[in-house]
Amino acid sequence: MAVERIVIENCAIATVDGGDTEYASGHVVVAGNRIESVGPGRAPDDLENVVRRIDGTGHLATPGLVNTHHHFYQWITRGLATDHNLFNWLVALYPTWARIDEKMAYSAAQGSLAMMARGGVTTAMDHHYVYPRGSGDLSGAIIRAARETGVRFTLARGSMDRGKSDGGLPPDFAVETLDGALAATEATIDEHHDASFDAMTQIAVAPCSPFSVSTDLLRQGAELARRKGVRLHTHGSETVEEEQFCKELFGMGPTDYFESTGWLGEDVWMAHCVHMNDSDIAAFARTRTGVAHCPSSNARLAAGIARVPDMLAAGVPVGLGVDGTASNESGELHTELRNALLINRLGAHREAALNARQALRLGTYGGAQVLGRAAQIGSLEPGKLADLVLWKLDTLAHASIADPVTALVFGAAAPVTLSLVNGRPVVEDGRLLHVDEDAIARSTREEAQRLAGIAGRD
Ligand SMILES: [Zn+2]
Repeated sequence: MAVERIVIENCAIATVDGGDTEYASGHVVVAGNRIESVGPGRAPDDLENVVRRIDGTGHLATPGLVNTHHHFYQWITRGLATDHNLFNWLVALYPTWARIDEKMAYSAAQGSLAMMARGGVTTAMDHHYVYPRGSGDLSGAIIRAARETGVRFTLARGSMDRGKSDGGLPPDFAVETLDGALAATEATIDEHHDASFDAMTQIAVAPCSPFSVSTDLLRQGAELARRKGVRLHTHGSETVEEEQFCKELFGMGPTDYFESTGWLGEDVWMAHCVHMNDSDIAAFARTRTGVAHCPSSNARLAAGIARVPDMLAAGVPVGLGVDGTASNESGELHTELRNALLINRLGAHREAALNARQALRLGTYGGAQVLGRAAQIGSLEPGKLADLVLWKLDTLAHASIADPVTALVFGAAAPVTLSLVNGRPVVEDGRLLHVDEDAIARSTREEAQRLAGIAGRD
């Protein structure tokens, strides 16, 4: 059967390719699940099997947004401990999180995914690390929610094995054993990881953080990931307190500790990386270790400002992350483009810190890089997978801004007229096509209330 084509034309295009090629008015031709051509002006008239021709007048087409750090389950614990720093916030919330079950994890994943997809995310990730005993198949439930929403997905199978009695932060009943966590992670890889070019589901190995996992879990987790050929993810250098914790327990800062346990490398990406000195940044650049920059969460928890301009100048791959919605209640990635730009201007570099094109690159190509998928997604180029977004920029919110990339990044959150994932429409005119947004809103409210009720009984 001949491949079906979708033609989008008359829109501005920011390809985010290596040369930042842009077209004031251009076309994108999608053939099956791939981008066939991108260029200026109208698409050729003689294309065969065009099933849909979209007039993109008033729109900007960009690669789909790639989220590189999230905790979906937190969708049902939003708006709690709102005035705490990271460690106090964690201590306040761990007992509630430790009560989640499969139904809650599924509903929360639906909420997190729906919110991001509606705002132009085409590749999502979930770092899930709370697996209470007897809670059911949480990983399977999360993956099912991603498939139903229609987005591309990486599940970072997390774990914690350093409970309070071992000097860690989480309560003992919220952690797994070392062997249990490794075996369950390996089983998740075997069951769900797809290594193919157009994979919709991938798995990464993701012990939670230095203060909630043992040194053995970090070491053996890295060995497991490399034996299986999957990526590694964790939290790193998020707060001053974490740095103190590492110095007291291990006699070195977080970056040196990660290096000593096999956790720097081009197959690793780390969330936050706020408290990095020059030699930490040089170590990330030398090893091509990636960073998931989460500006809103870092502000919400008063963690600080990551040195993103210095990282980019040194050649560190950097993507953007929503982070869990218990520390970023909005749960949207397109607003993080703006927040990344603004927050980095409050850091050491002031007005030269980041520009609109760099912010768009962080949210697209940079994200694809840190997820290990830059060959397949993250820019609009022939041969790549057809993950793209058509942003509506001709209404009150944006119409008076001449430059479309400036409108998208500096302006209000832009509505999504169309998003394609793997060549398939996932959002049209701001509505999700494959899941019922109103039903998800109801179920997430019910599950949030159920969780609060169970946690409140202890
Ligand atoms: Zn996180």
